[in-house]
Amino acid sequence: MFGRGFHLFTLFGFRVSVDPSWFLLAVLIVWSLARGYFPAVIEGLATDTAIWLAIAGAIGLFASIIFHEFAHALVARRFDMPISGITLFLFGGVAHLRDEPPSARAEFLVAIAGPISSYILAAGFYLLLAVTSAGDGITPLAALFSYLTLINAVLATFNLLPAFPLDGGRVLRAAVWGWTGSLRRATQVSAALGRGLGVALMALGVINIVSGDFVGGLWIGLIGFFILTAAGSTAMQVELKQTLKDIRVRDIMNSQVIAVPADITVAELVDDYFYRHFHKAFPVVRGEQVLGSVRLKDVGQVPRENWGTTSVAEILSSGNGSHVVEPGALVWDALTLMKENNVSRLMVVERGDLKGMLTMRDLMHFLAVHRELSGGPGASEPELRQVAEDRA
Ligand SMILES: [Zn+2]
Repeated sequence: MFGRGFHLFTLFGFRVSVDPSWFLLAVLIVWSLARGYFPAVIEGLATDTAIWLAIAGAIGLFASIIFHEFAHALVARRFDMPISGITLFLFGGVAHLRDEPPSARAEFLVAIAGPISSYILAAGFYLLLAVTSAGDGITPLAALFSYLTLINAVLATFNLLPAFPLDGGRVLRAAVWGWTGSLRRATQVSAALGRGLGVALMALGVINIVSGDFVGGLWIGLIGFFILTAAGSTAMQVELKQTLKDIRVRDIMNSQVIAVPADITVAELVDDYFYRHFHKAFPVVRGEQVLGSVRLKDVGQVPRENWGTTSVAEILSSGNGSHVVEPGALVWDALTLMKENNVSRLMVVERGDLKGMLTMRDLMHFLAVHRELSGGPGASEPELRQVAEDRA
C-alpha cells in the first residue's frame, strides 16, 4: 500500500513524496468540497467560486497533513531515529521510520507530536476564522478557514483512536511497552485493537451504505479496511524482525549452488543450465571467483547463430554488486536489499568467492519451519517484500 510514490520536494532533509492514490483522493476532496461543504456553508455560492474554494481547501488539507507528519519526523530526529522520508497516501501521511523507537518514551513523544500539531493548526485556523468572519454572513475566506479548522481537529482526533497503526495506537503501544517492558507484547495488544477497530468501521460503513448514505459509508468502510490491513502488516513486521533479529545469511543460505563456468559458450549455457535447472539466473565463476551473474534475458541479447561462438564471460552482467551479500550479513538486511533491488536471489560472496545463494524461497522455508516449531510468523513473498519496506 505504501509505494515509493512521486517525489515532491525535500524539506529539513526529509523527502516528501506522494502516493499515486493521493491524486484520486485530491479529486474526491475537491469534488465533495465544491458540491457539499462550501455550498452548504455559504448560501447562494457561485459554482466557480465553490470550485476555487474547494481547490484551496484541498491544498490546505494537503499542507496540514505534511505539517502533521513533519511534527512526527522532527521529534523522531531528536531521538536519533532515522527517517527516510514522508509519503502522503490515501488516508493521510506516513513518516517512514527506519527502525523501531529506542524506548517507550520516544515512541510516545513521536506519536503524540502529530495530533498535537494538528490541534495547534486547528486553533490557528480558528483564530483566522474569527478574524475574517464579519457580521452575520460568512465570507468565502472565512468558510475556507472554517473547513481547515474542522479538518485539522478531525485529523487530530481520528489519529488519536487507540488503534495501531494510528498515532493513538502508538501511544497505547508505548504505554503497554513501558508497563510490560515488551515491545512485542505491546505491538500485539495494540495491533489487535487496530484490527478490531478496522472491522468495526467496515461494518459501520456497510450499515451506512445499506441505509442510504453511500459516499459516507464508502469512506468509513475504506478507512476501516486500511486500518485492518495496516495493523496486520505492521504487527507482522515487528514479529518478523524479532524472529530474524540474530539470523545471519550463512545460517539459511543454500550452499549447494549451481554456478556457470565463465568460459563455456552460450549454447552450452542454454542446454546444460537454463534447460536443465529452473532458474532465471546463474552466478558465473572462474574457479571459485565470482565474476557476476547471467540471466535468461542476457542470452536473449545474443543472436542465435552466435551462441556457439560467444562465451558466457562476454554476456554476463558484472555491475550488480547490489545483488551480493556477505555470509555474515543479517538476513533482515538481505531482505531489505532484495526489496530495494526488486530481486529474489542474492549471491553470497566472501572475499570474491561464491559461498552460496540466498533466495526468497529459502527465507520463506526458514519462516515456515520456524512457525511449525515455535508458532512464530510465516510469510508469503509479497508479505516479505512488504515488511522489508520502511516502517509504515
Ligand atoms: Zn500521525
